[in-house]
Amino acid sequence: MTRQAAVSQDDVRRHNLGRLLRLLHVRGATSRARLTALTGLNRSTVGALTTELVEAGLVRESTPPGRGRAGRPSIVVEPESERTFTLAIDLGVEHVIAARIGLGGVVYDRREIRHPQSENDVDKTVGSVHALLQSMLASAPKNSTCVGVGVGIAGVVGVDDNVVRFAPNLRWVDVPLGSMLSERLDGRLPVVVGNDGDVGALAEHVRGAAEGMSDVIYLSGEVGVGGGIIIGGQPLLGAGGYAGEIGHMSVNPINGRLCRCGRRGCWETEIGEEAVLLAAGTSGGTDLADVLAAHAAGDPNVIDGMKHVGQWLGVGVANLVNVFNPEMIVFGGATREIFAATEASTRRALRSALTAPRDQVRLETAALGADSTVIGAGELAFAPLLENPMTALGGGRARLNA
Ligand SMILES: [Zn+2]
Repeated sequence: MTRQAAVSQDDVRRHNLGRLLRLLHVRGATSRARLTALTGLNRSTVGALTTELVEAGLVRESTPPGRGRAGRPSIVVEPESERTFTLAIDLGVEHVIAARIGLGGVVYDRREIRHPQSENDVDKTVGSVHALLQSMLASAPKNSTCVGVGVGIAGVVGVDDNVVRFAPNLRWVDVPLGSMLSERLDGRLPVVVGNDGDVGALAEHVRGAAEGMSDVIYLSGEVGVGGGIIIGGQPLLGAGGYAGEIGHMSVNPINGRLCRCGRRGCWETEIGEEAVLLAAGTSGGTDLADVLAAHAAGDPNVIDGMKHVGQWLGVGVANLVNVFNPEMIVFGGATREIFAATEASTRRALRSALTAPRDQVRLETAALGADSTVIGAGELAFAPLLENPMTALGGGRARLNA
């Protein structure tokens, strides 16, 4: 055998290990027979690969009672969810959600901290995120392995350097969040940072409302509005990873309000949390939940105001439909509730979109609820393991005696 042939066989094996582990991560327990059918590999290859994954502690096999069609029991393979995990953070403007997420997407330990917008000092925030991570590591099962930390943040993030370039609602500019967290963890764990909209889109695409779809736009929202775009099954990142800032689409530049990004009339100034409060005619002390409660209770002023917000929501959605021809638009974060309260006027405004793409789009709320971002951050941290299971585990630094 030539040296080149040996290398390429090894590459194929590595690739197939990753494929199998990804299938199990997404689908959960699956029989070997089903894995054989799904991958198109032959039975003995699937057997050898799953044995390798079992030895690495990533999956386990069991033989359920009863007999398979061929007269032999069909061995079932499932992820070792409690043994292999990521730590995931949704770093919002008014909240931090943290979770320990096992292989297979099982959420074991979810924590949430609310804080006022005024407390977004960089060092203080990084300190409290680090404390959360340490506490979750300390409470993970003995002999389990953390393969990485993922963070989703409401800001523009460099795709290669984990630097938060600009997070207008946090008032952060050029914050090297990935390396700051990594240093505090003494370099023991890889840290990856992504935009909250991008990771929310990832989560809804892998295990949420848009599962199995090819072209999807996800809207995230808290104080601002962000988004993530998946085209042809792949995330649309742009040249620097900054694509998908749909909250800053210019929709009302002449008469609109000033946006935190410095411009006037961005989409988030018409459909974001502040826009909802203004449209509902509420002042200090009220929040989105109060407005939604008043809306549900039939307050006529609030109902009128929300119709206005729904019109703007529909205008932006129509633009997205015309440009991207998505199969689905998923409303996540605060846009879930805003869409639910304004659905009729949003759909009316969507009529301005071109007929052909409009007829194909479905509007849905996020199936993972408030957890799209944190679950997507976990998926981001699992990516290297799913790409190349043995290398990701062999790095040494990823293995913690938690
Ligand atoms: Zn803006």
